[in-house]
This record gives sequence, structure tokens and C-alpha cells, in this order.
Amino acid sequence: MCLDIAERNDKLSIMASQVKFIKQQEKDEIPAKHTKIRCSCLTLVRWVDAYRCLYCGIFYCRACAEQHFGKTIEEYRAERA
Ligand SMILES: [Zn+2]
Ligand SMILES: [Zn+2]
Repeated sequence: MCLDIAERNDKLSIMASQVKFIKQQEKDEIPAKHTKIRCSCLTLVRWVDAYRCLYCGIFYCRACAEQHFGKTIEEYRAERA
């Protein structure tokens, strides 16, 4: 299970701002593969490189995702192998 990073309202506002940012880029006709996500740590990552939490629905950069899930990507992959 993921770590709770924030109160529910905060999560919703993070998600809302991420969705808004994506929509804005769609409007600017930026191709999906170049779409960027702003992580809650304010790092900009490409959408294809972002990690979305199944439980929160929030996108994270790699470092935050690893922190959020409490394990590294390698550990996660090793578990599923
Ligand atoms: Zn989560
Ligand atoms: Zn981050």
C-alpha cells in the first residue's frame, strides 16, 4: 500500500492541477509523448516517464514514486518477476 502523502483535499487539488496542466498542453497541441507532468515536488517529468499511483491517481516523478511506494522500481520489478 502506498504512503499517504497528503490529506484527501490536498490529493484532490494536486490531481486537479495535474489534470489542468495536461489539458492546457492538449490545448496547445503538444503531442502526447511530449506532454509533461508536474510532480508534487515541482519536478517536471515527461508523461511517459511519470508514475501514477493506482490508489491516489496522482502522478509522480521517479524519486517521489519510489518514496511514495516505499520501494525502488528495481525492487518492485524483482517482486513481480
Ligand atoms: Zn498512492
Ligand atoms: Zn517528485
